[in-house]
Amino acid sequence: MQGVGFRPFVYKLANSLGLSGYVFNSSSGVTIEVEGEELDQFLKRLENEAPTLAEIAQISVSEMTVRGDAGFSILHSREEAGEFALVPADAGTCEACWRDFGDPSNRRYGYPFTNCTHCGPRYTILRNIPYDRATTTMSSFVMCADCQAEYDNPEDRRFHAQPNACPVCGPSLALLERDSQPLFDRKNSLVVIRRTRALLGEGKIVAVKGLGGFLLACDATNESAVAELRRRKRRPHKPFALMARDLEAVQAMCEVSAADKASLLHPRRPIVVMPQRDGMELARGIAPGDRTLGVMLPYTPLHYLLFSDSPDLASEWTALVMTSGNLSEEPIVIDNEEALRHLRGVADWFLLHNRDIATRVDDSVVRTFEGAERVLRRSRGYVPQAIDLGAEMEEVLAFGGELKNTFCLTKGRYAVLSQHIGDLENYETMQFFEETLANLKHIFKVRPAAAAHDLHPNYMSTRMAMAAGIERKIGVQHHHAHIASCMAENHVRGRVLGVALDGTGFGTDGKIWGGEFLAADFADFTRRAHLRNVLLPGGDAAVRQPWRMALSYLRDTFGQKIPGDLACFRTVAEKQFALVDKMLARRFQTVETSSCGRLFDAVAALLGLAPEVTFEGQAAIALEAMAEGGIEDRYSFEIEDDEPAIIDFRPTIAAIIRDLSHGRRTSEVSACFHNTLSAAIGEVCGKIGASDGLNRVCLSGGSFQNLYLLGRTVVELRRRGFTVFLHSQVPANDGGLSLGQAVIANQRLREGD
Ligand code: ZN
Ligand code: ZN
Ligand code: FE
Repeated sequence: MQGVGFRPFVYKLANSLGLSGYVFNSSSGVTIEVEGEELDQFLKRLENEAPTLAEIAQISVSEMTVRGDAGFSILHSREEAGEFALVPADAGTCEACWRDFGDPSNRRYGYPFTNCTHCGPRYTILRNIPYDRATTTMSSFVMCADCQAEYDNPEDRRFHAQPNACPVCGPSLALLERDSQPLFDRKNSLVVIRRTRALLGEGKIVAVKGLGGFLLACDATNESAVAELRRRKRRPHKPFALMARDLEAVQAMCEVSAADKASLLHPRRPIVVMPQRDGMELARGIAPGDRTLGVMLPYTPLHYLLFSDSPDLASEWTALVMTSGNLSEEPIVIDNEEALRHLRGVADWFLLHNRDIATRVDDSVVRTFEGAERVLRRSRGYVPQAIDLGAEMEEVLAFGGELKNTFCLTKGRYAVLSQHIGDLENYETMQFFEETLANLKHIFKVRPAAAAHDLHPNYMSTRMAMAAGIERKIGVQHHHAHIASCMAENHVRGRVLGVALDGTGFGTDGKIWGGEFLAADFADFTRRAHLRNVLLPGGDAAVRQPWRMALSYLRDTFGQKIPGDLACFRTVAEKQFALVDKMLARRFQTVETSSCGRLFDAVAALLGLAPEVTFEGQAAIALEAMAEGGIEDRYSFEIEDDEPAIIDFRPTIAAIIRDLSHGRRTSEVSACFHNTLSAAIGEVCGKIGASDGLNRVCLSGGSFQNLYLLGRTVVELRRRGFTVFLHSQVPANDGGLSLGQAVIANQRLREGD
């Protein structure tokens, strides 16, 4: 309840009903004492008229003896031992604030740190609880008399707005070139910002300090600036996110559904991934090979001002590229010093400010499906908002997976998921994990009874769990965790049929799983079916070079007689091809895998897309982007009834080769392949559902971020009478694993095994 304008709301409500008493925030929530006539009315309006950012999890009411208070007052925040605090997430700049700092006659004109109780930084400036100015990075700024008066006045929009600031007393900007010294000058913010706009207009790359870290900005219509940013960031293909000035600008670039619009405008301000419109004037290098764009709206005053001085003026850009300020796969940079050192090879200029970022938090990413938001990366605006699990939990710490890592703490009825930490493959990311863990454990006062972890012995997250000093350790199979995660956020109990499709996860047989059909509950699972195992030649190299998977699938399908001169191998050096072929024949440096992601890689490569990739899921995204609408036919496949059943796509691979040799359009082949996979999912679920008496299906795993696949699969399953549960608040990808691990560990603790 803190930091969302709840206490002033209560104050005004109590006064308007002539009630006396008090309200205060504590680490256990909000406490209100009211006495007077209109108590029922008070309770009703408390629930119905709460401010936009306030989310009331629970209200408990008890009667007490009348104290005879005179008037209603707001008391200081208190910290209570052992309680669970609801710490506020950051909120995007509100309309009223934009009108303040966009108004030449307002004392905050052009001031980029304007905020109020409805908007502004929260989690990213929080050093401790309860959330008060003294516990934030704003503690070093002393409010001027004007700001203090606003802060003290319950009728003011800035009453107890902890980060309240103005050009007289608040943080300030500095703009500098590489290798120079910052000079912060709060009087001339607008001059600095106009100068920044001029630099962006010249095609310069500017590192902009934001809310949860630095972002790298450049003009999204400038082809050479975008190309240069890719080169310097060492990020050849992965799409860049855009920031558009307003909704109209987004609608000019993308097909925006009603649900997309709601997500774009929400104070959480995520990046929303939407279908691109044709013929936009954006640099082609923004999302090569993709038919979607990730766009967000401005969420700090500084962002608004990078477009124009005020709401009534035309903006200078259609859109700016706004990508996280880091070198590929390292955590986002938050310090000024760190930025100047670390990003000197990437940015031409630096737009710094002197309000410290306490916690690094990336931009969140969502997509919408069937009218609901589907979170792909859960960070700014969402974290540390607790997820209601609908039942009491033990205190557990789950360490998550290796890629797109998050960790999870449970307490009471809630799970707190960390922000997106990233791929745990370098020292910096592990540090980020450690610092965030220390912070959240402290804020939420969790003393974990168990450490839950993935079964993969070499995951960094597993090793960290082993070294964490928590005696009880609980290993959880990767795909079981995916399904439990989907169950947990949907409050599903009992046994379900879980379909977990992804790139990679350690199986209980030591092989790499990723095309899994499980009969599962929180306690345990049975592997009921999976994709036929094929060989993964050369470990990580097979992931970076999808053509290797194409060859593996061809050898599996045709044995020695694979069709000659396939277009997809023309770019592969003969020596390399021969080596991989030998690996497959002699089964050296190979492991078996039932991965769905690798099947996508193989088909994408056969279709001549992405023989080599630079980020996870790239080939699958290209394959989805290519799939043509309105194609209804599919290829054949076989299901081998066994324990577990085996789904055999060799007939599909053979048919794809036949289609390609007959010159069928690759866009049709891609659609047919997707159709085949969803038909197979439907058929396998039908069989297992009938034999096991299960009629609920949970879909999870990164492959279901593919909306073509998800859409067809959902239709297929519902047609067969299944109730289908999908992810929404928690990522379907490995970012959601930690939640699943936590609820499974909780169950095992309860059952005492
Ligand atoms: Zn505001
Ligand atoms: Zn001030
Ligand atoms: Fe996974």
